Amino acid sequence: MAHKLSGGLNIAIVGAGFAGLASALLLARAGHRVSVFEKFKSPQSLGAGILIQPSGLAALQRLGIHDHMVEQGARVLHLHGIHPGQRPVVDVRYAHWRPDAYGLGLHRGVLFDALWQAAQQEGVQITTGVEVTQLAALQARHDLTVVADGAGSVLRAQTGLPVRDRLYPWGAAWAVLDDPGRRYGHTLWQWYRGAHQMLGIMPTGLTPARSGTAGRPVVSLFWSLRADSWTAWRDAGLEAFKQQVRALNPDCEDLLAQLVSLEQLTWARYHDVVMPGYHTPDCVVIGDAAHATSPQLGQGTNLALLDAVALADCLGPAGGPTAPPLPLALARYTACRRRHLHYYGQASRWLTPLFQSDLRLLPWLRDRLMARSLRWPVVGPLNLQTLVGVRQSWWPGAPVLELPQPPGITRAR
Ligand SMILES: Cc1cc2nc3c(=O)[nH]c(=O)nc-3n(C[C@H](O)[C@H](O)[C@H](O)COP(=O)(O)OP(=O)(O)OC[C@H]3O[C@@H](n4cnc5c(N)ncnc54)[C@H](O)[C@@H]3O)c2cc1C
Repeated sequence: MAHKLSGGLNIAIVGAGFAGLASALLLARAGHRVSVFEKFKSPQSLGAGILIQPSGLAALQRLGIHDHMVEQGARVLHLHGIHPGQRPVVDVRYAHWRPDAYGLGLHRGVLFDALWQAAQQEGVQITTGVEVTQLAALQARHDLTVVADGAGSVLRAQTGLPVRDRLYPWGAAWAVLDDPGRRYGHTLWQWYRGAHQMLGIMPTGLTPARSGTAGRPVVSLFWSLRADSWTAWRDAGLEAFKQQVRALNPDCEDLLAQLVSLEQLTWARYHDVVMPGYHTPDCVVIGDAAHATSPQLGQGTNLALLDAVALADCLGPAGGPTAPPLPLALARYTACRRRHLHYYGQASRWLTPLFQSDLRLLPWLRDRLMARSLRWPVVGPLNLQTLVGVRQSWWPGAPVLELPQPPGITRAR
């Protein structure tokens, strides 16, 4: 028999990443009983900085951690990508979308810690050191199971839902480095040589409290690499890497001096995951498990946070008088997320080869047209809306995503 939501649900969430923790927090706040199962033994969030877009900032407001994140993060006002000849390739300002808009460069650990603590304060039961291998065992004990086990999900296949999961041939090596004078300011910098070399430096705000030396200003450095050249890159050694970086950007000795070993760089590959629908009658797949993309557009965390908000909105508060049956609530979730998620998957798939590939003609055109095209009538707004996270369709004039409202404000249906 289909569960009505009015009594509150017994919910299991697999994965304490951004998607899992954000949905745990919102669902517990709505009065459901929520348990999270995470395979890591101790709380952790691996990887470098993340860029939170205005769409993700709206989700942070709903989660109640927005102001704290803004204090800990670095406001990014400008994306500036240049060619070795110093010709601007990407030159986008958030203010061209809305005068007070910005992206927020954040250390992953800062967002992770805030969600972890808030979820626990809300009464979420978090069990660590448990790798869930059988979805059915969890489903038998819970009304709803949320699969939030990340891009390399092994559980989504057990839902029986159709899925396509491909690995991008390129990835990136990342490091978080000190920037005591905040000399990288409010700009996310990128340097390109064709599409086969890319260096990025992103202001990342402050290090998290648990890092021992909390509150140090840092930047994330990223270096694009073909997956099959990673071993050769590592074997060539640190000095060879530094020479490549200097050839693109001679003015970053402050960062290079902090690198004493290539072990300080974390290697990451990207999945491209597409699902036509995200739910069964008692299970839903969210976050990277449902729609991992390359990070070229800086959207993955934003999409995960928006998933969490949408799921909580579709399920509604426990004990609500008009609570729908669970399968209907989950069908609403798929219906309300699909366009947005498919658009960003497609946009990332099309954009990534412009910046990470062996192609020659496309990056040549990019270097000549991209910065200019951002001022063209239809293309300019499309690019800005895509960047800030609200675009849902290629069609000019198509309705954009309605951003989540802060708590206490409900949108008329
Ligand atoms: C190099 C790189 C740069 C990025 N930059 C950005 C950016 O600038 N902006 C942005 O918005 N996004 C960015 N992203 C994407 C972003 O990191 C992801 O979209 C986001 O972390 C997805 O969150 P998630 O909770 O879905 O998955 P994850 O963060 O992967 O969390 C999944 C969790 O599930 C746990 N787990 C997995 N399997 C099991 C199991 N069987 N049982 C129990 N637990 C399990 C894992 O340990 C993990 O804690 C980037 C990604 C990469 C790789």
